[in-house]
Amino acid sequence: MQKIVSLGAGTAGTMMANRLCENLRTDIEQNRISVTIVDEDRVHIYQPGLLFLPFGVYRSKEDVLKPRDVFLPLEAKFIVSKIEKVDPDTKKVVLHSGTLDYDLLIIASGSRLDPSENEGLLGPNWQKSIFDFYTLDGALKLQRALRSFKGGRLVLNVAEMPVKCPVAPPEFVMLADCNVDFWKVYEEKASGKNTDRPELQDCLSRLDEGDTLWIHSIDRLARSLQVLQNIISQLIAKGVTVKFVKENLTFTRDNHDPFTKLLFDVLGSVAEFERNILRERQREGIEKAKAAGKYAHGKGGRKKSVDRTKVRTLREQGVSFRKIAEQLGCSLSSVQRVI
Ligand SMILES: Cc1cc2nc3c(=O)[nH]c(=O)nc-3n(C[C@H](O)[C@H](O)[C@H](O)COP(=O)(O)OP(=O)(O)OC[C@H]3O[C@@H](n4cnc5c(N)ncnc54)[C@H](O)[C@@H]3O)c2cc1C
Repeated sequence: MQKIVSLGAGTAGTMMANRLCENLRTDIEQNRISVTIVDEDRVHIYQPGLLFLPFGVYRSKEDVLKPRDVFLPLEAKFIVSKIEKVDPDTKKVVLHSGTLDYDLLIIASGSRLDPSENEGLLGPNWQKSIFDFYTLDGALKLQRALRSFKGGRLVLNVAEMPVKCPVAPPEFVMLADCNVDFWKVYEEKASGKNTDRPELQDCLSRLDEGDTLWIHSIDRLARSLQVLQNIISQLIAKGVTVKFVKENLTFTRDNHDPFTKLLFDVLGSVAEFERNILRERQREGIEKAKAAGKYAHGKGGRKKSVDRTKVRTLREQGVSFRKIAEQLGCSLSSVQRVI
């Protein structure tokens, strides 16, 4: 009897075993040929599915694992054992569980990722901030990491030609583009009068070459032309693109358009001018309030127009809203607001 042995029951080994058994059915039935397949375990990993696990398109490992025997031909013998080595001189395969003779050997043991070949990959950040998606373990850990990914930069590094599936890296990038939220939104209530703002500082510290910062409008970034120019020139020098939505302006390292620069300076000056006017009005208001004895120092400026305790006491005594207002020298609506 001629013995055909196939090492590996992955995609290639399974397909080969099926074709052999189909084409050699008569010889197998008449015991002239035997087909044996060896693999170290009973579970097939559908590897293209590993691309979908990180993004939750496939949710769990059950989505990519299938029992091997379901796909293997009944005519073939399936041995579950680790393959130790092949001895071509004696035509023997050494398995963990014994030896196997062959007349014709098919090697379908696939290829596996070896991150240790790239210096530094297997350092302390492996599977913390550096991941692979060519293994089930890697894809699942990446899924977990992406779930808590709060925006930022994702780098796909093709360390070497991935012989297993060269198209998987660009596929991954496209899936990431569709499924991962790379945006970080900053909202700040603090005044734009200076750069001493936690959200702004956090945003500026995170931006890096190739990033784009979208800003609602120029006056949201800063209210002084000098501060604006400083921030923008620092970002541009870093290689960050800055876009102002309301003004429809874009600043990049390569944009030397003098009109954009002029417009930016004008708009920045207007923002600064507005702020100066506002401060001037505020100062005038304070002066007036002080003159009228309505300015309370250290209490945010404005004097409380109504004594709330007195309002409540008078009301409890049955005094009408209007009378309370007259008595305390405030408006009717102020009394109504307190009650
Ligand atoms: C992320 C990803 C995406 C992919 N996307 C696609 C796609 O879209 N389309 C496509 O056509 N292909 C895709 N591929 C490639 C495809 O999965 C592989 O080309 C295919 O699985 C290779 O089949 P194989 O039988 O050669 O190897 P495998 O399927 O890896 O099978 C090898 C088998 O050998 C066994 N084995 C190895 N060593 C031993 C040992 N010492 N003892 C016992 N058993 C052993 C293993 O257990 C395994 O079952 C993708 C691969 C990956 C990783």
